[in-house]
This record gives sequence, structure tokens and C-alpha cells, in this order.
Amino acid sequence: MSAEPSRDWNVFKQIFVDHWDGFKRVHARYNKRYYDSLVDKMLRCGNPEKMGYIEYRCLQCGEGKHLVSMSCKSSLCLRCAKVYVDNWVSQVSQMLHEGVIYRHIVLTVPALLRTTFYQNAHVLLSAFMRCGVKCLDDVFTRVSGHALQGGYIVVVQTHGRHGQYNPHLPIIATSGGWDRKASQWRHLDYIPYRLLRKKWQWYLLTMLRQRVRTPAINRLVDACYTRYREGFVTNVQKGDVPARYQSLARYLAKYVVSPPISLRRIDRYDGHRVTYHYRSHKSERVEQETVEVSTFIGRMVQHVFPKGFKRIRYYGVQATKTFATLKGLIQEALAQVKGIVKGAMKIIAPMTYRQRYQQSTGRDPLRCPHCQHEMGVWRIWHPTYGLIHDELKAIERGKYASQAPRVDPASEPGRTLWPASGGIPLSLPGLQ
Ligand SMILES: [Zn+2]
Ligand SMILES: [Zn+2]
Repeated sequence: MSAEPSRDWNVFKQIFVDHWDGFKRVHARYNKRYYDSLVDKMLRCGNPEKMGYIEYRCLQCGEGKHLVSMSCKSSLCLRCAKVYVDNWVSQVSQMLHEGVIYRHIVLTVPALLRTTFYQNAHVLLSAFMRCGVKCLDDVFTRVSGHALQGGYIVVVQTHGRHGQYNPHLPIIATSGGWDRKASQWRHLDYIPYRLLRKKWQWYLLTMLRQRVRTPAINRLVDACYTRYREGFVTNVQKGDVPARYQSLARYLAKYVVSPPISLRRIDRYDGHRVTYHYRSHKSERVEQETVEVSTFIGRMVQHVFPKGFKRIRYYGVQATKTFATLKGLIQEALAQVKGIVKGAMKIIAPMTYRQRYQQSTGRDPLRCPHCQHEMGVWRIWHPTYGLIHDELKAIERGKYASQAPRVDPASEPGRTLWPASGGIPLSLPGLQ
């Protein structure tokens, strides 16, 4: 494994360089190529010689230069987490429909079940998401007295504030649902809390019993009914102002896709122990915790999802193409109960590398500091595929030689960076 410090080195990477090999030997579950590659990508991230880069140059004065290292997109990478949050906000905000009232609901798993959940995560995670949706449809149906199908954006989250395993489902749900029989949207003003708690308990425990068929699970399920007589904890966000959709998406993103422990929360690492801080839910204060380095690594990797797992899913009317048609009916129904619903939602476009850089430094990275002209792509280099684009070579071949239009069937199709087939999986943050 590559161990030498890069210019983007940090304490988080150092912890993995020092202890990953030892950790995976003790924890066989993580001794797999998949995890190795996530760690390896994370360690190389930010190092242009290892990850590949796009080099920008000022084609006007030749002085200005800017190097953009390609991102690794490893779910363990703290550098890439920020980009991921921005893209997520954009994705979710595009799925929220103007004029439709949504609520933020969180369905949780009680402490008694978390270990079992962790051990069976590969068979439970998808079923977990589906059973949250079934539960809400059932509650909506029960409350309205009509068979309803709501619309849901469901995310699965596995960590609590200090990195421990605490699976829960943050859901953005329509406030009401589609009554297929009556061809009518039925708006629900409230969700009865007691009913939701009990229903959630029943759906979750039934799902567990069906997916993990062991005598131990049956005992655990029975214990849960005895111990949690009021059902399982569910939180429903109060208020339903459409104008807040944007902030809802952003709030959710911070809460949902942020890394279990961010870099700025790591206070100390002495080679064996890690100290970090977090804001506690219980005390509402910042608390500090010191753990063995293996515990720390465990708290990070236990939240890595199975390969290819989709963490954001759309269900019910939200997932159908007909939602566009339904939207009109939903808005009409809402207008009848609430007066005109003003949609103040804007679609948030994902930020480009250039915008993110500008936002954090106040400087446009692609403007030449010497002559203020916009710089152009000079070279694109990838560790496996080598030089993908070389502007100098293109110039030597006569790219700018003649102003007269001419047709050359043998010429390259301009600046196509992507091969026509095969598809090199490159992420080119500067070109987005
Ligand atoms: Zn210049
Ligand atoms: Zn990265």
C-alpha cells in the first residue's frame, strides 16, 4: 500500500496507513478486496501523480497554471464527502415537487436490535427501506379511511453522532397520498404519533423475523414487544412550508450523507489512540471521546454500504412517471384545503469544481492570475490510461494552423475526452 505522504496528507489518512492492515487481519469481515480498494483510493486522493489530473494553462500568456487532482469517490474519503453532499442536495431538490407539501419523518431502530442489524446488514438494508414505506402507506390509509399511496424519498443512514452503529431511515414523505379508487389526492394534515410508533414497531419486527430466520431473532422480537410497549421511536418534523424545501434538502444532506466522523472533529492521534469530539443529542453539548485506533477505524468502516448499494430511493407516487400528472391534482386538492399554495422552490444545480473552489477560496481557479484570461485544458493524465489529452501535441499536429474551414475525415472529433466505447471511468471535476 502506498504510504508516503502527499501534499493533501492528513491525520485521518495516517491512521489508516498505520493500522488498516492490522485491523483487517483481526476483523475478517473487512478483509476483502472491496474494502482494500476503498482505503487505497482514499489514501491516494488529492495526489495528482497517483490519481490523475487535469492541468489547465493560460493559452494567452502561457504563464498561468492550475492543476486539478481527480477525485476518488471512495465512501471512506473525507475529501470527497463534501462533493457528495452537494450532489445529493441537487438530486433530492430536483425530486421535490413545487406546491406539494412534504414532511420529514425519521424511523429508528431501538438499541436492543442494533447489533443484530449490523451483523445482518447485507440482507436487511434494502428490506429496511421498503418496510418504512409500507408502514407509512399503512398509516396514511388508516388515518384517511381510504387506501392511499404516498410519495417517498427514502435514505438509509447507519451512524449516530459519535460514529456508533445506529441505523435509521430519514424519509421525505408527501403529506397524504393518492387514492387510486377515487382518482383523488387526499391531503393529511397530521400523522397520529402513537399509531405511527406502533405500526413502525410491527413492520420492522415482522421484516426482521422474515429476513433472519433464527430462534434467536424470535426471542429478540418478543423481547422488543415487551420492552417497548409504546412502539419504536419515530420523529415527524412539524410544519410544512413549501418555501423551506431548499433548506429541507440541505438540512437532510448534512444530516444524512456527512461522514461518520469528519476531519475537523479529530483532535488528537498519538499512534494508538484517537480523540475526537461531537455534539451530543443527550446533553446538547460538545463531548470529547478517546478510543483505541481499532475502534476508531471500526466506527468508520462499519458505515460503508455494500458495493453498488443505492442509499437514496424513490417510492410510491414519487417514483412513478405519472407523478407529473398527479401533481396538478395534488396541487388542486391542497389549494382547496389551504388556499393557494405558493411554491418557492428552486432547483439547486450541483456545484462544479470551479464554483466550489471559488466559494472556499474566493478566487476563480481557472482565471489566469497574470493576464486574467480564462485558462484552457492543457493536459489530462490518468495513472492507468496515461496522457488522455495533450494540447501541445494537438497544436503541433496543426489544430490551430489554419483558420479556413476544412473537412478532414481522419481528424479527431475535437476535444472528445471520452472514448467512443469501453468508457474509461474518469471523474473530471474541472470539466463538469
Ligand atoms: Zn495568462
Ligand atoms: Zn477522495
